[in-house]
Amino acid sequence: MKVIIAENSGVCFGVRRALDLLDEASLKAVSEGRTAVMLGPLIHNPRVVDEYFRKGVNTVDIDSVPAHSVVIVRSHGVTLDTEERLNGMEGLTVVDTTCPYVKRIHQLVEKKSMDGYFVIVMGDKDHSEVEGITSRIKGPFTVVPPSYSPDVEGSLREILSKYKKIYAVAQTTSRPANYENLLKKIRKLIGTDRSVSFQTAQTICTATLRRQDSAGELASRVDAMIVLGGSNSSNTAKLFQVVLERNPRSFMVESPEGLTQDVLELLKGAGTVGITAGASTPDGQIDEMRKFLESL
Ligand code: SF4
Repeated sequence: MKVIIAENSGVCFGVRRALDLLDEASLKAVSEGRTAVMLGPLIHNPRVVDEYFRKGVNTVDIDSVPAHSVVIVRSHGVTLDTEERLNGMEGLTVVDTTCPYVKRIHQLVEKKSMDGYFVIVMGDKDHSEVEGITSRIKGPFTVVPPSYSPDVEGSLREILSKYKKIYAVAQTTSRPANYENLLKKIRKLIGTDRSVSFQTAQTICTATLRRQDSAGELASRVDAMIVLGGSNSSNTAKLFQVVLERNPRSFMVESPEGLTQDVLELLKGAGTVGITAGASTPDGQIDEMRKFLESL
């Protein structure tokens, strides 16, 4: 079996930066005799989070942050309320690993909402990144799901009947086609109404775009495709959608143990298998999967 790893797969700039900051902060904490904790999982990769747990870096929530600890804030960012609570706790050292691309969205929505814009965020309303973004909006807003539907159209019509200044952003891991589709529909609903000011920002992360392009290209020329990453990782789930559209023999797992017997049988008969990995998947986990497939 020939195993091909997609270009631009695995750990992105933001996650590498977060892990480097975590390593640096936890070493410093040990040297100072202090406890280092992650506020929520640093990245959406349970295996990586578990490794840090074994090194003594626990995951805590805002209500159980130990006094005088070093607190590492995750790469997806936290809500403004959480940030303010952390800053108000005496004796803490806060190491903020929020990805600069996510921080940029925080700044954009804060500014535009203060300028009187109604903010539309396309994304998953329950994802920590989206919660962090919406918590910084200083006025009315809505979160719309990536898939356009009559419900979405109905609520957009209502918004446009009430507000004349509209601003749109997307969660960093969104699929560009979904965002473009939403913007197109909003423009169509506005039509020739010149009283509406509609502004948008391109907030989809380039690391995400490159991963999706490379994964899609590879999926269309291999017999089967493995998408490696945390089951709770949004960008891994989007990668899976992209490859599944190009290759129905695509499978998403966190590790070789996640491959079922049926899938293993199918892979054994494949001439070429591609691997792509979400932005929170370290090189070691990709290499482990490659070796496993080559051993079949
Ligand atoms: S996927 Fe993009 S936005 Fe998310 S952490 Fe990586 S670089 Fe930052």
